[in-house]
Amino acid sequence: MKKILQSLILLILPAFLPAGAQQIEHIDPPSWFTDMKDDALQLMVYGKEMGYFDVNTSYPGVTIKTLVRTENPNYLFVNLSITEEAVPGSVPLVFSRGKQKIVHNYPLLSRPEGPARGFNCSDVIYLLMPDRFSNGNTANDNLPGMTEQANRNNPGGRHGGDFRGIINHIDYFKELGVTGIWLNPFLENNQQHYSYHGYSTTDFYRADPRYGSNKEFRELVNEAHKRGMKVIMDMIFNHIGSFHWWMKDLPSKDWIHQFDEFTRTNYRASTYMDPYASDSDRELMEKGWFDVTMPDLNQSNPLVETYLIQTSLWWIAFSDLDGIRMDTYPYPQPEMMARWARRVAEEFPGFFIVGEVWYDDPSHISYWSLNKNNSDGYRSYLPSVTDFPVCFAAHRAFEGKSNPTDGLSRVYNVLSQDFLYPEPFRNVIFLDNHDMSRIYTLTGKNLDAYKMALSFILTTRGIPQIYYGTEIVMEGDKSNGDGRLREDFPGGWPGDTKNAFTGNGLTDNEKEALRFTGQILNWRKTKEVIHTGKLKHYIPNDGLYVYFRYNDRESVMVAINNNPEERKTIEGKKYSESLEGFTRGTDIISGTEIENLNSFSIPPATTMIIELK
Ligand code: CA
Repeated sequence: MKKILQSLILLILPAFLPAGAQQIEHIDPPSWFTDMKDDALQLMVYGKEMGYFDVNTSYPGVTIKTLVRTENPNYLFVNLSITEEAVPGSVPLVFSRGKQKIVHNYPLLSRPEGPARGFNCSDVIYLLMPDRFSNGNTANDNLPGMTEQANRNNPGGRHGGDFRGIINHIDYFKELGVTGIWLNPFLENNQQHYSYHGYSTTDFYRADPRYGSNKEFRELVNEAHKRGMKVIMDMIFNHIGSFHWWMKDLPSKDWIHQFDEFTRTNYRASTYMDPYASDSDRELMEKGWFDVTMPDLNQSNPLVETYLIQTSLWWIAFSDLDGIRMDTYPYPQPEMMARWARRVAEEFPGFFIVGEVWYDDPSHISYWSLNKNNSDGYRSYLPSVTDFPVCFAAHRAFEGKSNPTDGLSRVYNVLSQDFLYPEPFRNVIFLDNHDMSRIYTLTGKNLDAYKMALSFILTTRGIPQIYYGTEIVMEGDKSNGDGRLREDFPGGWPGDTKNAFTGNGLTDNEKEALRFTGQILNWRKTKEVIHTGKLKHYIPNDGLYVYFRYNDRESVMVAINNNPEERKTIEGKKYSESLEGFTRGTDIISGTEIENLNSFSIPPATTMIIELK
């Protein structure tokens, strides 16, 4: 009977809503916050003929400043001021047109207290793809209104992973020894096909319900915080998905970049800093579409700019987020992106943003880095950049295709260009991510080479990021398609016989990789000299690369013997300026005590991480 009553109420309910309430289909942002440093808020109000309405309100501290209308009468942009006088509550927004009135109670929430947690070299970021990590709620795999259905047999399909799955296994991250989780994008991607990767946003203010609700995401962040971990959200300002609700009724013709026929970007991000780049190449880079299903937003439109900036502020304040990874950073309008980074820093000092800047050259990457004074006057205000040159150099070093010294020399040479960055230790460093072949595959499934690569990335300068599954040597070859780089994490699905969380069904190789990763991560976690110490390295020679992380109190010597079969002798004389004052050491990987630093040997295809005494 109760059930019948409930469904009756649901049926009757719409009739009691104030006339015209359904006319408003979207108000973005859906809520805002008190005590923001900037009192300005711009609402996008969407609904049939909403552009013909006026707005009034009566709420202490809240005033309506101006209304902005576009050529599309279904949009109204409302500029408000919310001063420190305003307290959390419901702000009655009264929309009127002649005798017609619509009242919308707009939620004003309190923003999180305390400073931003930020990220630095004491952190290690674990990147995971929400659709592929763990399915904690099979009831949300398929949902009415969401077009693409789950199909685990399709590598490019949706597999059912969700927030609940991540929350269920949050202690796994803590035990592994990482300090932050970066989720590939989780905003609604209601595309017909290939929606699982999340890079085709169809609603900026809604988590894809197949992952869970906005509140469940907030719960995830809260559970991470309880364990001393932080969360990074992936955002995309360059483009949206072709099924974004805007695409049915654009706010204005210039909301996106439009062409007579489909026009793709040239992907040449170097055209920004190239002093000889043609205007047409530069323009195509910014305005061309990233892909057929990814309409390119026009960030030069001030309404678009404000909309995008507010989405990031909203997610930070709503979920108490710790970081943002901005996708395709050089593709949107660069000046707008710089204003965005400044605005976030002003509102949330110390908040972490890492921009995806995909170049294989430190000179290009450094152009976007914090406090870089570029000759053309551009300043990005971006707190951190993705260090692809270090990644590619590590591939060269450990893929076993060149002679043992050549690859290490590439690593050495890339790091030697750190003078280009005002603060190179802010760079996020990694061996792979969701867009590249996995590191274990790149080494030719060589566990020793994998261990050398991992120990390098966890001890050199920068903020390391590891990709989910690296710890159990998951495989993935880019030539087999992106879906194969993002396979389901074993143990994440009900009925999985292989389970990385319990260790059940793991091979010896996988168990050893998991043990090794956890060992270095947990050692690194409390090793201050790796977090804040300086770096000094020596020219690689004979397949041997040696560097030191040091401060006034301690020093760690890292030696990589990249020779596949040859044991090498390390002569202390060569490193005397770094070994001065130390007589012995302990290799934290093998536990070996080194009694004589003047001469000791290192096995083939091995890294030693030696705490000096
Ligand atoms: Ca699910």
